[in-house]
Amino acid sequence: MQNQGVTLWFTGLSGAGKTTIAKQVEYELKVRKCAVEMLDGDIVRTHLSKGLGFSKEDRDTNIRRIGFVANLLSRNGVIAIVSAISPYRAVREEVRSHTDRFIEVFVNAPLETCESRDVKGLYAKARAGEIKQFTGIDDPYEEPVDPEVVCYTSEETIEESTAKVILTLERLGYVPKTHKQPTLRTYALHSQDYYI
Ligand code: ADP
Repeated sequence: MQNQGVTLWFTGLSGAGKTTIAKQVEYELKVRKCAVEMLDGDIVRTHLSKGLGFSKEDRDTNIRRIGFVANLLSRNGVIAIVSAISPYRAVREEVRSHTDRFIEVFVNAPLETCESRDVKGLYAKARAGEIKQFTGIDDPYEEPVDPEVVCYTSEETIEESTAKVILTLERLGYVPKTHKQPTLRTYALHSQDYYI
């Protein structure tokens, strides 16, 4: 085994860069032969959380379910990477309290940056009123108070943010240290964790 199990939880606004960094981290860890599983918001909403909406209650239920699965994986030696907006602080803290090893990565970019990226065209729809309860527009996002890692994606490169996460995993002893620099690989984005 190349690693200890841990839940690596990426939270932040839609378009902040959660999926981009999470996939790069996943790649780096796989290169190191670590056991990794990605819990993608879209897949979770299609399967595990099918039928849930975007009320606070449904969003919290969704996050509890993701947290439950992530903990099952991480306590069995897998690095469970979660990429989900997860806008509510209390439920993130609840998941942390039920999880053996938990690292919160706050992917922090100003709303204006996320909106100008508008990777999935959803901010435009939310502004036009075509999508309701959109985080950052007409639904809240509660920033983490004391996350283990903060990635400022309007100021850092993807490589810098990835390195921060990997170095934190190394520092906490969850993955072996290496002298190699993280390698950048470009991914096709297909995550649909817009509303989580
Ligand atoms: P999220 O998963 O948070 O909704 P995505 O990762 O899907 O966000 O999209 C973020 C977009 O921002 C991508 O198109 C990515 O290439 C771009 N981007 C620009 N700079 C950065 C950076 N420094 N870190 C992460 N993403 C960045």
